[in-house]
Amino acid sequence: MTQGVDVVVVGGGQAGLAAGYHLRRQGVDFVVLDAEVTPGGAWQHTWDSLHLFSPAAYSSLPGRLMPTQRGETYPDAGHVVEYLAEYEKRYELPVQRGVHVHAVRRDGARLRVESDGGTWRARAVISATGTWSRPFLPAIPGQDLFAGRQLHTVGYRRPADFAGQRVIVVGGGNSGAQIAADLALDGVDLMWVTQRPPRFLPDDIDGRALFDVATARRRALDAGRGDTGGVASLGDIVAMPPIRAARDAGLLAAKPMFTQLTTTGVQWADGTRAQADAIIWCTGFRPALSYLAPLQLRGRRGHIAIDGTRAVDEPRLHLLGYGDWTGPASATLIGVGRPARDAARAISQLLGARRL
Ligand code: FAD
Repeated sequence: MTQGVDVVVVGGGQAGLAAGYHLRRQGVDFVVLDAEVTPGGAWQHTWDSLHLFSPAAYSSLPGRLMPTQRGETYPDAGHVVEYLAEYEKRYELPVQRGVHVHAVRRDGARLRVESDGGTWRARAVISATGTWSRPFLPAIPGQDLFAGRQLHTVGYRRPADFAGQRVIVVGGGNSGAQIAADLALDGVDLMWVTQRPPRFLPDDIDGRALFDVATARRRALDAGRGDTGGVASLGDIVAMPPIRAARDAGLLAAKPMFTQLTTTGVQWADGTRAQADAIIWCTGFRPALSYLAPLQLRGRRGHIAIDGTRAVDEPRLHLLGYGDWTGPASATLIGVGRPARDAARAISQLLGARRL
């Protein structure tokens, strides 16, 4: 069955909900299609001990402050899931769950959105599919040789799953540091490996600063004042309380990156070896955009060329929430509101112009 609608939002995590909030304010007819069967986007799949790197009041979507979580300065992932579920209900956002979109195609004046739950013909599409479903693993020689267990950040849940094992955590970003700290503080035999020495943000800086810095960078770039370096100029790792605890206990001394895997572990260029039962690759994510392939918009580094959030070569398509390239700090709860508002306004104008 094919249904008509003004706008399809693909993805019902925080970015899709923020888009829905602003589309509703613009009076636009829309539907949100989400592959998950329950609300909360990627937050429902993170590891048990994950806490936000900003307090609740600095982690809110447009319109509704995130309530504080009792006893926690930094809310946990479960609290975020509850907040998103409540947000969706409060604003009566039309989210259809368990619907996976596999293609968007041009279809005359419309975009044809094909999913396992039916087909929609839309005047515009907002892509808000996040990155969690596209974990990135670097290619390392010997990867197929290793007889132990290899998993990505997305597969990690808790230290108890690695009790009595030798674990290597790869990656010097927030996920790598947090998972390394989680394991180390639980007494797991841990080796942390990073491509360059870990760069901790000053202890008194949390996620709030990241948003400010990303915004200042965008403003400087837009005003032609040059690149201020953004968040990366401060450091890579927010020194959350467990990270500080593990670091100060001497449990987070990182080793440089190895050059290959062996059947029993890893090996460095000078021939040094280390044994491992498991390797956890905390090596990042890529935007989940493969369903847009029929539009043939892929540019450099897998990114689609955009102006604000609008695809340069397909003005009926907006991209939301994938990182600074789709708006300053747009891959954060607090940062996605502004680009969501801009996308909804631009779409409302586009639809208005077409209706004339
Ligand atoms: P997601 O939450 O991934 O939602 C996308 C939704 O789209 C999912 O439900 C998915 O199933 C669905 N989807 C994907 N493809 C399709 C398809 N083809 N068809 C239909 N549905 C589809 N941000 C903060 O603000 N504070 C933090 O402290 C913080 N900590 C983080 C810690 C970690 C470890 C990570 C990985 C991220 C963290 N972030 C944090 C960043 C950010 O808030 C999350 O990545 C957030 O989940 C991104 O939201 P999203 O809506 O863009 O994507």
